[in-house]
Amino acid sequence: MSFQNLGLDPRIVHAVQRLRFVDPSPIQAQAIPVILKERDLLASAQTGTGKTAAFLLPLLSKLKEPGNTRAVVLEPTRELAAQVNDALKDFTAFSHLSYCLLHGGVKYEPQLAALKRSPDIIVATPGRFIDHLESGALDLKNVSHLVLDEADRMLDMGFLPDVTRIIDACPKERQTLLFSATLPPAIQNLISWAMKDPEKVQIDIQVSKAETVDHALYPVASDQKFELLLALLDHVDYNGVIVFTRTKVEADKIAHALEETDHSVTTLHSDRSQSQRTKALEKFKSRECEVLIATNIAARGIDIAGVSHVINYDIPENPEDYIHRIGRTGRASTTGDALTLLTGFDEDHLKAIETLLKSEIPRKKLEGFNYKYTALLNPTSAKPIRRRGGSPSRRRK
Ligand code: AMP
Repeated sequence: MSFQNLGLDPRIVHAVQRLRFVDPSPIQAQAIPVILKERDLLASAQTGTGKTAAFLLPLLSKLKEPGNTRAVVLEPTRELAAQVNDALKDFTAFSHLSYCLLHGGVKYEPQLAALKRSPDIIVATPGRFIDHLESGALDLKNVSHLVLDEADRMLDMGFLPDVTRIIDACPKERQTLLFSATLPPAIQNLISWAMKDPEKVQIDIQVSKAETVDHALYPVASDQKFELLLALLDHVDYNGVIVFTRTKVEADKIAHALEETDHSVTTLHSDRSQSQRTKALEKFKSRECEVLIATNIAARGIDIAGVSHVINYDIPENPEDYIHRIGRTGRASTTGDALTLLTGFDEDHLKAIETLLKSEIPRKKLEGFNYKYTALLNPTSAKPIRRRGGSPSRRRK
């Protein structure tokens, strides 16, 4: 299977070739023909599988020539929306189709000016899209393609009422494409209400485990977590490391504490302004900052090349998030390491992750680290360590 014989518009194929995409990825090979046939599509595919191109390439092929707004793509986060917008720039290099990006945290005026030009495709986060809908700036009467990307994430973020309103505002005669890693009941209800006999495509969760990412658990007492993080950062030879925390407060605390050591750090979470978030990503991508401290906002889909290590400072509560987080390293066949700090309180979350992975993650001990407790290093003798704490201890330069 090649891009040429999938039935895509030659100008789109040309753009893809310019990007040096050689063969369609599995999600592309399966989804593109379905979308070109005008069928509704329900797809489950992990980020990093090429799912953005899987929906954009056939959409652009269908739209063909510039006209009025005919496609809407909804994304849960500003970063993902911006990434789809960047992909559109690449994919439309040889066609004249236009697109515009609508998300919060930035001024309305440039977005209003872009909407006046009736872009062929709108990429948006739900909140700002609703604002424009309410102000009458959006003309949706010609929308014939609607993409709901990362639908489960939109649900988790509380966007379901907004998404429902947006779907309702689009014409009934349309093609709907829904991407979701999981299908909780609320999404299933949405599917039966908003979609017409969707064709299903499932790309099994490929935990790049055996291939490009080495996983390891680093058991530690909760009051030694920050110490161990520092020791790991000193010990591993990293080129770009993302440290994931569960909460924004913890992300800030750790960033602050790491800044007091020799590390160049930036943070990404939803309490930061849009310009701070954009700057954080730029600094990390250019390696002006080598450590990015992030909450799950960066776990889904953000395409950052060459991240050598992901460290789960806090084990994710949702096993799917583990896969999304570790998928930030080992991308595009480079190798990466995924390190997870494990305390006695995390055993249930670990069990859920190992069940999803269908294998155990090896436990490792950092040689030379002054462990207070070693019980957790051996899973058979592991007992929860009931201690208070967990906040990063302060270390000075
Ligand atoms: P996505 O899952 O859409 O976030 O895509 C992940 C990365 O894979 C992006 O950097 C894409 O540019 C890249 N990509 C998508 N499709 C292909 C392909 N067929 N061949 C090579 N790279 C691809």
